[in-house]
Amino acid sequence: MADTSSSATGAKRLKVRCPSCGEMHLYSLDNPYRPFCSKGCKAIDLGAWASEQYRVEAKPTSEDLLDDNGV
Ligand SMILES: [Zn+2]
Repeated sequence: MADTSSSATGAKRLKVRCPSCGEMHLYSLDNPYRPFCSKGCKAIDLGAWASEQYRVEAKPTSEDLLDDNGV
C-alpha cells in the first residue's frame, strides 16, 4: 500500500483576519499592508488610532429576503 500523504503542499497558506474590516484574507509577504487586507483598511486603522475612536463597524449582512413568487 502506498502511503499517500495528504499534505503535499509546501507553502502554507495562512489566513488572517483584517483588523480593520474583519475580512479573512490570505496573509502574504507580498502584501505591504499586512496584516491588513488592503491599503484602504490600513489607512482606516491608522486614522482610527489617530483619532482614538476605533469604530468597529460591521458590515450589515442583511439577508435580503427574496420574494420567491414562483416565476
Ligand atoms: Zn480589510
